[in-house]
Amino acid sequence: MVNLLHNGSEPVTSLKKKEHMMETFGLMKELGSFLKGVGRMFYVVDPQETSFGDSKDVPEYFRNAWPYFLLFMLMENIILWIDRKPIYRLNDTVTSLSHGLIQHSGKLLFRGAESCAYFYIYERFRLINLPWELPITWYLAAIGVDFCYYWVHRACHEVHILWAQHQVHHSSEEFNIAVGLRQSVLQGWCGFIFYLPLAFVIPPAHFITHQQFNLLYQVWIHTETVTTLGPLEYIFNTPQHHRVHHGSNIYCLDKNYGGVLIVWDRLFGTFAREKKDEEIIYGLVYNQPSFNPLHLQTFYTEYVMGKFHKMKAAIFFGPSWEPGKPRLGLDEDKVKVTAREKYNVKLPFWCNAYLLVHFCVVVYGFQELAARHMGLNPLTVFGFVIYIIVSLTAIGMLFDNRPLACVFELLRCMLLVTAIQRMTFDGIHNSVLLATEAFFTLSGLFWFLQSVKVLQITLKTKKD
Ligand SMILES: [Zn+2]
Ligand SMILES: [Zn+2]
Repeated sequence: MVNLLHNGSEPVTSLKKKEHMMETFGLMKELGSFLKGVGRMFYVVDPQETSFGDSKDVPEYFRNAWPYFLLFMLMENIILWIDRKPIYRLNDTVTSLSHGLIQHSGKLLFRGAESCAYFYIYERFRLINLPWELPITWYLAAIGVDFCYYWVHRACHEVHILWAQHQVHHSSEEFNIAVGLRQSVLQGWCGFIFYLPLAFVIPPAHFITHQQFNLLYQVWIHTETVTTLGPLEYIFNTPQHHRVHHGSNIYCLDKNYGGVLIVWDRLFGTFAREKKDEEIIYGLVYNQPSFNPLHLQTFYTEYVMGKFHKMKAAIFFGPSWEPGKPRLGLDEDKVKVTAREKYNVKLPFWCNAYLLVHFCVVVYGFQELAARHMGLNPLTVFGFVIYIIVSLTAIGMLFDNRPLACVFELLRCMLLVTAIQRMTFDGIHNSVLLATEAFFTLSGLFWFLQSVKVLQITLKTKKD
């Protein structure tokens, strides 16, 4: 008898059918949620599903999108490879992603404190009670956030002290999806004031939701693999328009500030079309030869502070401003950037492999922190954020092949081994901790041998 009765009631074939249907249903559900995730990258979302009455209910859309970022980057590299164009450089990509990790570590630490003023204004001074469940509120919020983003972004380019933060995003000489994640850790604190007028009308939950969608949309437009999107180019910010924004050619400077819509640039006179006969040179006008994320986050602020001491007004005008000149300086005084060799440091394969593995360990640590940070005390979160920043700095210094990078890396490995031995880690299996300890001990041992060599050379040179 094949068709034996199961539990004395249902035939086995019927049970198998049910299981099969459940499996198919589960797969369809997963596919559906995957497609929704892809849609969010392009602001293609259902207003009803993404409207919330309470800001605490708003999901972490941006933080949860990392798998999609990685998928998009993989697809971009495949297209570049098929087109026989240069694929990502490891050093530049790790630097871009490091900035993304540092920025989001900062967010875990601040816990959205920069939005407090928005909440306060909405609670005390709102002019209208827009029902949160109505689609019109959703659309108004989407347009309002994008309109404010245009002005935040424009101010970031036209006011020197704000540019000191935003230049981080422009510090890569590449233009790819990873660059979309290269952001300044302090920019949120400088830019929040531009969004405050929205607080008189738009409920905070909508504001937080659309800020995330707005930023998500801006990730994929960092690519050279999409040449044009036809009629969409008139309304939306596209890879073509954003390539111009990242150029350091004279015609590209201070152009195309839009986030999702390019209509703001067309309306306010800051739009520039991509020139087919002029190669775009990406990056800062004065490129910073470094892959160290901490240096790239901070060096310009130091420069602007120096300028402030000499000339107070300078920090409120454009980066190219000079006394007696218009607010943004004159084009004829600006540096004409022509084709230049990209900053690069060639490292042996083993070194790149080492840095990639250690970078992945930091990413894993970040994921763990992001998942647990609300249950941890602020001091532990702070300690973990310091670990992330120090680790990414060490990786950057090694990519730059800085003279004392190996000593710095040795100290980092030793500190981590000590921390693993001395601290308690709830919820992490002992075998994982032991493997991590062994991994950092071996790494430290290797850099100890390297450091001895480096110090010998330094001592010898000094004697000479
Ligand atoms: Zn910009
Ligand atoms: Zn950009």
